[in-house]
Amino acid sequence: MVGSGWASRRRYAKDRRLARESPRARGARPGVEPGAGYAFEGHAPLQVRFPCPVCNQRIRVPVRGRLRARCGLCGTVVECDT
Ligand SMILES: [Zn+2]
Repeated sequence: MVGSGWASRRRYAKDRRLARESPRARGARPGVEPGAGYAFEGHAPLQVRFPCPVCNQRIRVPVRGRLRARCGLCGTVVECDT
């Protein structure tokens, strides 16, 4: 995510890899560590969801590199690097 520090970007990359490699090993509830601010779900295509920085509405986008996601609730456009 834009604005994230180096450490959280590293963690994101690691979580993304884990989500790709073992989509079922993470249990019935898809997701990542609590408090990470995002969660992965689905598989082929893998998707990531994260809260809108403005209204906290969940935004879900496919994992395919840098893209712009638009919040369905408040219309905020968030640039993210998935
Ligand atoms: Zn929003």
